[in-house]
Amino acid sequence: MIEIKTNALAGWNLDNSYTALPEIFFRRMNPTPVRSPELVILNEPLAQELGLETSEMKSDANIAVLAGNRIPEGSDPIAQAYAGHQFGYFTMLGDGRALLLGEQITPAGKRFDIQLKGSGRTPFSRRGDGRATLGPMLREYIISEAMNALGIPSTRSLAVAKTGETVIREEEQPGAVLTRVAASHIRIGTFEFASQWGSEKELRSLADYTLQRHFPHAENEENRYLAFLQQVVQRQAALIAKWQLVGFIHGVMNTDNMALSGETIDYGPCAFMDTYDPDTVFSSIDTGGRYAYGRQPDIAVWNLARFAETLLPLLHEDQEWAVQLAQNAIQHFKKLFHDYWLSGMRAKLGIFGEEPEDVSLIEELLKLMHNYSADYTNTFRNLTLDTMTDSILFDSPEFARWYEAWQGRLNRQQKTESASRDLMRKSNPSIIPRNHRVEEALQAAVNQEDYSLMDKLLGVLSNPFAYSREQNAYAALPEPSACPYRTFCGT
Ligand code: AMP
Ligand code: MG
Repeated sequence: MIEIKTNALAGWNLDNSYTALPEIFFRRMNPTPVRSPELVILNEPLAQELGLETSEMKSDANIAVLAGNRIPEGSDPIAQAYAGHQFGYFTMLGDGRALLLGEQITPAGKRFDIQLKGSGRTPFSRRGDGRATLGPMLREYIISEAMNALGIPSTRSLAVAKTGETVIREEEQPGAVLTRVAASHIRIGTFEFASQWGSEKELRSLADYTLQRHFPHAENEENRYLAFLQQVVQRQAALIAKWQLVGFIHGVMNTDNMALSGETIDYGPCAFMDTYDPDTVFSSIDTGGRYAYGRQPDIAVWNLARFAETLLPLLHEDQEWAVQLAQNAIQHFKKLFHDYWLSGMRAKLGIFGEEPEDVSLIEELLKLMHNYSADYTNTFRNLTLDTMTDSILFDSPEFARWYEAWQGRLNRQQKTESASRDLMRKSNPSIIPRNHRVEEALQAAVNQEDYSLMDKLLGVLSNPFAYSREQNAYAALPEPSACPYRTFCGT
C-alpha cells in the first residue's frame, strides 16, 4: 500500500491511539485497492472542521485515499474487533467491511475516527464481500448529515467515492466507499467482545481508554466505572429522546450499533416515521417489530443492561453488590429519558415552565394523531405555522377541544405568543428526509449519475428549522401508495 505524504497540503493529522490497546481489540491491515476511484461527493464544511483542505481532498492522491487505494501519512489502518446481540442473539462480529485509518486531530484539538466503509474483506468478514454499494452509502450520507443538522448526535459522512467495480447484491450495483467520521467507533459490542473473549486486564484497558476518550470527568470519581456506566446511560437517554422527538426509527438497534460516545451510528434500514404510529417499522427484516418506533426506549434499556453486565467485574469486588449498582444505574434511564422527552415535547408545543398536566396534554395530542393517522412532522409543523387545514385531524371536534386546552396552557404562561412561536420554530423541523424524496434523489444519482436532486435535498436538509419557501415542496407527503415503505439491510 502506497503511503501519501501530502500532509502539509491536505491537512491529514492522524493519531492511532486505539492501536495502543491490547492486540485482541484489532487487526492491522490495509484497504483492498479498487479499479478506478471516482469522488462523487465531498462534505466540504466537515472537511474544513477536520482541518482538511477541500481543494487538495479532490486531488487524485486524496481521492485514492477515499477509495482505499492509498493511505495518508500517519495512518495505521485497523479492523476493530467487536461482538454484539443481533435481534437478541449474541454473536462475534467486527469490522467486516470497514477500516479505521486513524484519528484525525482537528485544528480545534478534537479527535475523530476516520473510517472507510466498504474497503474490502477483513478477518471479520465471515461470508461477506467486504464491499458496499453506492445507493446505501449515499443514503447514509444524506440521513447522517440530516441528523447532524437536526442537532442529533451522529456519526458524519465526509465523502463517498465510487470504486469503478460492481458489487453483487440482489442485482449488480456500483461499488462505493463511504468515509465515516465518528467521535469513536467503540460500541456496546466492543465491551461484549472484551467481556466474552478478553481477560479482566484487557477489559479494564478498554474501559480506561473509553473513559479517557469520552468521559474524562468520570476519571476523578470514587467509582470511575460506575460513573462511566451512569454517563453512558445518560447520553443514551438524551439520544433516544431526540430520536423520538423527530420520529427517527433506527431500525437495527443491535448492541453493536450503539456507540458509547452517544452518537447515532450505523444507518442501515433507518427511516423517519411519517404517519404517527408507535408500532411503525420500516425494516424488511424486523418482522417481529422488535425495533419499532415506540419500542426504542425499552430496547435502549435492554442494550444498556448488556453493557452493564460486561462492567460487573470492574464495578465492585462483591459481585452481588456490583449487580445492584448496575441495576440502579440502568433503572435511572427511564426517568432520564422521560425528562428529556418531556422537555423536548413542551418545546415543540411552545410551552415554557412546567405544569403537571403537560404530560396529559401531550399524550392527548399523540393519541389524536394516532387515531386520525396524522403525519407526525407536519402536525407539529402546522401547529408552528398556525395553518391547521387539510387534515381530518384538524377538522375533528376532539382536536378543537385539545386546541382550546393548549391555548389555555399557553395563555397561563408569562411568555409572549411570539416567544412561544420562536420556541416552536426551533423545536419542530420544517422538513425531515422524507422517504420518497430520499429515494428519488438516490435513484437519479445511482441510475442516471444525476446528483442535482441529491444536492438540492442536502441543501434544504442542512437547515431543517429554516421554514424557507423552498422547503415547502419537501414537506409535502408522497402520493398514497399501495405498498408501505420498506428499508433493507442489503447494503
Ligand atoms: P450491520 O448490519 O451493518 O451492523 O453489520 C453487521 C456485521 O456484518 C458487521 O460485523 C459488519 O462488518 C458485517 N458486514 C455487513 N456487510 C458486510 C459485507 N458486505 N462484507 C463483510 N461484512 C459485512
Ligand atoms: Mg453495525
